[in-house]
Amino acid sequence: MSDTALREVLAPFVPMGRAGLLPALHAAQQVHGWLPEEVAAEVGRALKVPLADVHGVIEFYTLFYGRPVGERVVRVCGDPTCALRGADRLIEGLCAAAGVVEGGTSADGAITIERVPCLGLCDHAPAALVDECVAIAADPDDPGRLADDVTTHPPSVIYGSQRVLTAVCSEDTTGIRDYEACGGYRALRRALEMGPEAVIAEVTAAGLVGRGGAAFPTGVKWEAARNEPARPKFVVCNTDESEPGTFKDRALLIDSPHLTVEGMVITGFAVGASRGYFYVRGEYPYIVPVAERAMEEARRAGYLGDDILGSGFSFDIEIRVGAGAYICGEETALFESIEGKRGFPRVKPPFPTSHGLFGKPTVINNVETLCNVPPIIREGADAYRRLGTEGSPGTKLFCLSGDVAKPGLYELPFGVTIRELVYQHGGGLPGERDVQAVLLGGAAGSFVTADRLDVALTMEDLRTEGLSLGSGVVMVFDETRDLRDVLARLGRFFAHESCGKCYPCQMGTERQAEVLDRIAAGRPEAGDVDRLQDIGWTMADTSLCGLGQTAATAVLSAMQHWPELFEETP
Ligand code: SF4
Repeated sequence: MSDTALREVLAPFVPMGRAGLLPALHAAQQVHGWLPEEVAAEVGRALKVPLADVHGVIEFYTLFYGRPVGERVVRVCGDPTCALRGADRLIEGLCAAAGVVEGGTSADGAITIERVPCLGLCDHAPAALVDECVAIAADPDDPGRLADDVTTHPPSVIYGSQRVLTAVCSEDTTGIRDYEACGGYRALRRALEMGPEAVIAEVTAAGLVGRGGAAFPTGVKWEAARNEPARPKFVVCNTDESEPGTFKDRALLIDSPHLTVEGMVITGFAVGASRGYFYVRGEYPYIVPVAERAMEEARRAGYLGDDILGSGFSFDIEIRVGAGAYICGEETALFESIEGKRGFPRVKPPFPTSHGLFGKPTVINNVETLCNVPPIIREGADAYRRLGTEGSPGTKLFCLSGDVAKPGLYELPFGVTIRELVYQHGGGLPGERDVQAVLLGGAAGSFVTADRLDVALTMEDLRTEGLSLGSGVVMVFDETRDLRDVLARLGRFFAHESCGKCYPCQMGTERQAEVLDRIAAGRPEAGDVDRLQDIGWTMADTSLCGLGQTAATAVLSAMQHWPELFEETP
């Protein structure tokens, strides 16, 4: 690419300065295929970012390449759910056919094949990303079919007895007219009539808590941001859904993007923000055009932009695309990413409600949380509370995957038990096998044993049991599975995703992965059990952010339930 052509590509991002670094690198890589030194240097010059910082960002994010890659890049998920369904065989077959080793590029430069962390396609395992398209492997032993089975609209498999959030989810993306016909944007009209304080009061009365994993009360967060005097304020939609086993936000956005847009606008109105950022993980490139189209439709209909519905309130949304970093799901790391930096979490306090994006008051909510807002405002808090339990009102999206007959997304009222979800709704286990374990909450969650399946999926019941719902992952392993292999994959996941900012997590995740690999390979060393516990407790107690604090949770729970796994050879 000539210097002039590159400068033209970068021109739209120049006014953004450093905050334009990620979109500029995406754009440059799109046309150049990768990011060689001269391209990195030109990006730095154009945006006035030191070259060392440009390289720091390129190296931090796995979807940016500082080396040549093939014309086609195939990324195959190797995390537990896809592994259960033959991902390793699929990767081996693809590599053999292309004549490359994992992570390598074929001699003719046609293809690069990589093993990657969860792609948010666990309902279609084993799955891959072929450039910007989803590939669902119909047969992992027939890798040749993979490239023929690509789509930009991965079908959502949605079940549920009470479809509130997923009511308008269908095979096609719901456009604005169909969304309006089902009551869409009525909540926004109502919110504008109610006023900001009443909107926050309604969300608080509904008992809505964050659905991204932390379960923080949404109304409290909004109130804190509203009370901040600093301007401007921001609303950030966290679509960096990267917890292995989680695919709910993908389905909500592909099928019903206006629900998130409406939730963001109402949030902006409630807290006094004029600008929103929609941060979507880089592994969901196919969501970007869907979101762009929905936002454009909303602008044309007067629901987004200046003077919304003649109310005098103005709010618009900018889309930002991540570049492959699980840590950017952490709220402050996500802000850093939008600001054009490596996704390093910040020390808290101060909290985002006072010092968030660009140092300004910011409300950051997960997609599912935002999607709860329109039904609450439209139907009222009392109606919302009629579903679920007193302590956990409403419905929850459960991501059911692994050894289950009907993997998919389940919208059910809080209070359903794991047994009901797996057997009554999910059709039980294939081959009438028994449950060995359920991983609840994802890689950062805990294992549940077969004799505890009657625990109710509510915040309060799980807290009593010492468990966490996390982002809603329910991953089932039957009696034949080797949990040592599952744990080794989780260990490698955290070692790969640790950002390296703090020592306990940087070193701890690496050492944990080494020990778990040894145990899975049947070569445990004397002292490995003590070593794993020491690493786990140290990370939990001393890591800076939630990633390190929870990187050993699943391992420690497995050690408690199945100590024999760590001492015997497979
Ligand atoms: Fe980074 Fe891990 Fe420390 Fe979090 S705990 S800041 S991910 S090194």
